[in-house]
Amino acid sequence: MEQKGKLFVVGFGPGDFKHITTRAVEALQESDFIIGYKTYVELIQDILTDQTVISTGMTEEVSRAQEAVRQAENGKKVAVISSGDAGVYGMAGLVYEVLVEKGWKEETGVGIEIIPGISAINSCASLLGAPVMHDSCTISLSDHLTPWDLIAKRVEAAAQADFVIALYNPRSGRRTRQIVETQRILLKYRSPETPVGLVKSAYRERQDIVITNLAEMLNHDIGMLTTVVIGNSSTFLYDNKMITPRGYQRKYTLNAEKQPLKPHQRLKKEAEPWAMDQETGLTQGSYEEAAVGLLTKAPAPEKKSTSFEIAMEALSRVSGQSTAQSITPPLVQQKMESLFELAVSPGVANKQFTPRQMMMLAEVVGEKGTMEYTPNHKIILKIPTTEPDRITEKLQSVGFLLSPIGDVVTLKACDFCDGEKAESIPYADELQRAIGGIDMPKELNIGFNGCGMACYTAVIDDIGIVFRKGKFDLFLGAKPVGRTAHPGQPVAEGIEPGRLVELITNIVEEYKQNAHPNERLFKYFKRVKKIQGYSYQEMAPKINIEPAPCGD
Ligand code: SF4
Repeated sequence: MEQKGKLFVVGFGPGDFKHITTRAVEALQESDFIIGYKTYVELIQDILTDQTVISTGMTEEVSRAQEAVRQAENGKKVAVISSGDAGVYGMAGLVYEVLVEKGWKEETGVGIEIIPGISAINSCASLLGAPVMHDSCTISLSDHLTPWDLIAKRVEAAAQADFVIALYNPRSGRRTRQIVETQRILLKYRSPETPVGLVKSAYRERQDIVITNLAEMLNHDIGMLTTVVIGNSSTFLYDNKMITPRGYQRKYTLNAEKQPLKPHQRLKKEAEPWAMDQETGLTQGSYEEAAVGLLTKAPAPEKKSTSFEIAMEALSRVSGQSTAQSITPPLVQQKMESLFELAVSPGVANKQFTPRQMMMLAEVVGEKGTMEYTPNHKIILKIPTTEPDRITEKLQSVGFLLSPIGDVVTLKACDFCDGEKAESIPYADELQRAIGGIDMPKELNIGFNGCGMACYTAVIDDIGIVFRKGKFDLFLGAKPVGRTAHPGQPVAEGIEPGRLVELITNIVEEYKQNAHPNERLFKYFKRVKKIQGYSYQEMAPKINIEPAPCGD
């Protein structure tokens, strides 16, 4: 009988040997295959013996999970590894999803064991003191697979509900605004002095710990390997440690040997006026009375109030504010500085900067901002500011064309031989106005060249448009980089100029609606085989490229 394979999905914790569980080590050593992200495989290298290692890069999680399932179905024992806990933003869910797609059943299918590890919220908390002593949550700020609006809603809800929050994936090279926006939301509900811990590479060689506060956290280095732990309204700092009280001070006097409440009194109703009455669902007293250890029964409320109203009343007595004040989140009057990112160019066709424009760039960027020239003939600006509108106004006043950056439509036109072959420029301008800068599942570059020379390489952009003999040729689905790079497929010739903008807009809209998050146009085209009636054709490779174990 064919031997059934087994999948181990292993969380190996923060990354040092002392914090990997015994079961995780056993599973890794028992396995025939180890499958994981390159950096993680390197972290556990010393534990491995003769296992076959399949390591791939970031964004290859799906192919890793598919390969793991395939090997397990072939009777092998396979360990899929995640740092931290495999079930917290790790590989456990994805492996199950791939199995579900194949109709897997526990009784008849390959075996699976999820091996827990220490997640960053726990490892980082242990280095910061004891910040996660009360209700807490984790929120990943990565919007590669989750819409930003949903993430922002969760941040808002967690901030409002006074959770201690651990932010995972707070910032990367390209995702820089999410943490700025998160800070802005948190400051609507929490004091600027709220303690914040930044832990980079917990328990690894380059571990770095910073204790700061909500107002100042962005003045420190926050990157891909940082976890940001935000305290709740009671978290305090003592000797550079973040401590969140569990609530013992409501019943105990922590510096007294003899407690005012005897053990048999501590769980009595009268000692917990904030607790819900099991019959009425109401609370009966105030925090204040309990805090001083008064055991007299609180007078019955004159009118029936909800437990929320009573809790607010109790809070108002403790804080000395009116109920209305205590319900209203603290308002932060100061304007928050955020990092304003955008791309500027002299125009769609124009590639020449004027001295006035250069001077304006220097003025708005100042000492604190950065300017980066890109192959797209644009300059990317990153400027810390409280007044992005003011910067926009200034840049536009000297004739700059402004566009957003990231996963948006970017139009890259040639210079039309310095304006000498200008016939098609109006169509490039119209296209920029119609779809330039709109959000996409993945960056989408449209190359627009003014003659058949196509010397600004439109044919190696996601969508290539070449003006020739008064009409347009269209290329779709180039793969501009990588060892399997290729030009776009020539899908149409002689498109009438009057049809161009509508056609390209339809192609872009179709891709936007139907592409998976992060799926580039060439992958989408290959998957769906047809865009706006243009068919995908398999292109024969000129040379044979040995396929990599997972994807290419
Ligand atoms: S693509 Fe043609 S029109 Fe555009 S710059 Fe090159 S030669 Fe000139």
